[in-house]
Amino acid sequence: MACLFCKIANKEIPAKIAHEDEDLVAFHDINPVAATHVLIIPKRHLVSLADATEADQALLGKMLLTAKRIAEQEGRTAEGFRTVLNTGPNAGQSVFHIHMHVIGGRPMAWPPG
Ligand code: AMP
Ligand code: ZN
Repeated sequence: MACLFCKIANKEIPAKIAHEDEDLVAFHDINPVAATHVLIIPKRHLVSLADATEADQALLGKMLLTAKRIAEQEGRTAEGFRTVLNTGPNAGQSVFHIHMHVIGGRPMAWPPG
């Protein structure tokens, strides 16, 4: 399996794990853009949100609630945090295994660059 995030999910590549259950793994981004920067991935390979189907509805919902849990774990709930899914070239997706960014620990501008 050539996919980097499948390798992290399978523990073939080390990562600093923030949460794991039967469906998902959350780990700290190797190049954090804020004090908190965690990526949530499904263990099952899915390229991006553009490839998701009705069958993925529960999984996508679980990713979002896991983002809430990570924010709580990291103590970012009161100050606020951002959840991001980059999908495809214009959004700057660089790893083609769907991942939700959970970013917090500093004020963030809008719109994003
Ligand atoms: P994106 O640009 O949305 O595809 O985000 C990919 C993210 O994966 C970037 O923030 C990278 O810093 C992060 N990343 C790449 N390789 C690793 C790795 N081995 N462990 C943790 N995070 C990684
Ligand atoms: Zn994968």
